[in-house]
Amino acid sequence: MFVVFEGIDASGKETQAKLLEKALKKKGYKVVYIDFPDYKNPIGKMIRKFLDKKVELDVETRALLYAADRRYRYKDIKKALDEGKIVICDRYCYSNIAYQGSLGAKPSWLASLDATLIFPDVVFLMDIPAKESLKRRTRKDRYASKKAFLEKVREAYLNMANGTIQPFRAYGDYAEWIVLDGRRPIDEIHERIMREIELRLPRGGEE
Ligand code: ADP
Repeated sequence: MFVVFEGIDASGKETQAKLLEKALKKKGYKVVYIDFPDYKNPIGKMIRKFLDKKVELDVETRALLYAADRRYRYKDIKKALDEGKIVICDRYCYSNIAYQGSLGAKPSWLASLDATLIFPDVVFLMDIPAKESLKRRTRKDRYASKKAFLEKVREAYLNMANGTIQPFRAYGDYAEWIVLDGRRPIDEIHERIMREIELRLPRGGEE
């Protein structure tokens, strides 16, 4: 099973992805957790340089790097899924559509960059208003304090969740989207996620 967490900055992706990882491991499942961008790989390192404002890259170049960063981990995701493990990703190809798409990159072109990926079974969209994101945010990045932009990104995510836009369908993406109100208490959101996951886990996976 392949689970992805998406949402705007500080929406609670990492919080929920880590709680899910912990809970599933406790139940005896084997879990592989990947945080995108993966700043440890050579491509992710270039992305970090951009975020740290050490290098100037236009939107399309960034989109290519984000996609390459995901493709770099393709083999790990494939192997884990082949071995029957649960893969949890904090951000995935949908981030490119939401962010780089909102910055003007062409959505169909963006989607083509991730055409060779394995698509998830479930995407949890942590939905919060931009105002809440700005209030919570602790890490500084290029998008800091741009409320209108974050609202645009949020809107793009909601459009993917309700099927108005299906950028990766042509490439075999049939992921199910579940929208969660990220303003609810952390434990409450976690419990809902566990219920949704347990409904979808293959029987007999637990040992
Ligand atoms: P993301 O990975 O989406 O950037 P994080 O999980 O890092 O978000 O959370 C960002 C901040 O918001 C953290 O300080 C975290 O403790 C806080 N947070 C996460 N979930 C909630 C929630 N449901 N209610 C209030 N604060 C939250």
